Amino acid sequence: MHYINKVSITANIAKIEERIQKACVSAGRKREEIILMGVSKFVPAAGIEEAAGAGICYFGESRVQEAAEKLDGFKDKFSNVKLHMIGSLQRNKAKIAAVFFDNIQSVDRLELVAELAKYVQNREKPLEVLLELRTGEESKSGFTDFNALCKAAEKVLNIQNIKPAGLMTMAPFFNDMSNPDSIKLVRSSFRQLVKAQKELEKHFPSGENGNWHCLSMGMSNDFEIAIEEGSTMLRIGSLIFKD
Ligand SMILES: *Cc1c(COP(=O)(O)O)cnc(C)c1O
Repeated sequence: MHYINKVSITANIAKIEERIQKACVSAGRKREEIILMGVSKFVPAAGIEEAAGAGICYFGESRVQEAAEKLDGFKDKFSNVKLHMIGSLQRNKAKIAAVFFDNIQSVDRLELVAELAKYVQNREKPLEVLLELRTGEESKSGFTDFNALCKAAEKVLNIQNIKPAGLMTMAPFFNDMSNPDSIKLVRSSFRQLVKAQKELEKHFPSGENGNWHCLSMGMSNDFEIAIEEGSTMLRIGSLIFKD
C-alpha cells in the first residue's frame, strides 16, 4: 500500500464520512452508533498520525510485529487512540499481542484464548476481544458454527482481565459490488453475524464480565451494506490510505 499525502488522507476520510452519514440516514441509524476504524496495515506511522489528526481514533493492524515496531510510542502522542489486532493471530505472537493491543478482533479458536490468558495478568485494563465468526464460504478464519462460538464465549467470560466486547466477521470479497448476487451474499454474511449476536446475548447476557455489543463488519467495498445490517464498527483500509 502506498503512503499518500496528508491532503489525500484527510480528503479520503471526509468522503467516506459523507457516505457513512448518507447510509445512516437511509438506514434510519444514528452516526454515533458507528465507529470508523482505519485499517493501517502496511501504512507507515506518519500516515497513521495524519489519519489520527483527521479524527480517526481506532486503528486496525494485521501483523503483530509490524504494529509493535511502527507504533511504539504512538500512544504517548495520541492517548485517546485504540489499537486493534484484526488479522489472523499465530500462537507464538500471542504474548506480544496480549500486551500491545487494546482489542483483539480475530479470536477464532479456543487454543488462542488459552494462550492470551497467560499474558494478560499485568494489564492495567482488561484485554478486549471480539469473537470472529466465519460467515462466507471461501473465508478461512473464524469459528465455523454457533456451538464453537458458545464455547469460546463461555471461556472468555471466565478469564480475569479478558473481556469480550462483541463479534467480527469478513464478508466474501467481490470486485463487482454492483452485481445483485454479490450484494445478496455479503448481506447474508452480515445477517449471520447479527443472528449470532442475538443468540449469544440470550445465552450469555451482557454484564460486567463482557458484552456482545460490537459488530465489527464492513470494509471498503461493502461498508454501506454493513451499515444497513447493523454494523457498529467499519474497518476501512484502502479507501482511507490508497489513492
Ligand atoms: C485489510 C483488512 C480490512 C480493510 O480492507 P479494505 O478493503 O482495504 O478496506 C478490514 N478487515 C480485515 C480483517 C482486513 O484484513
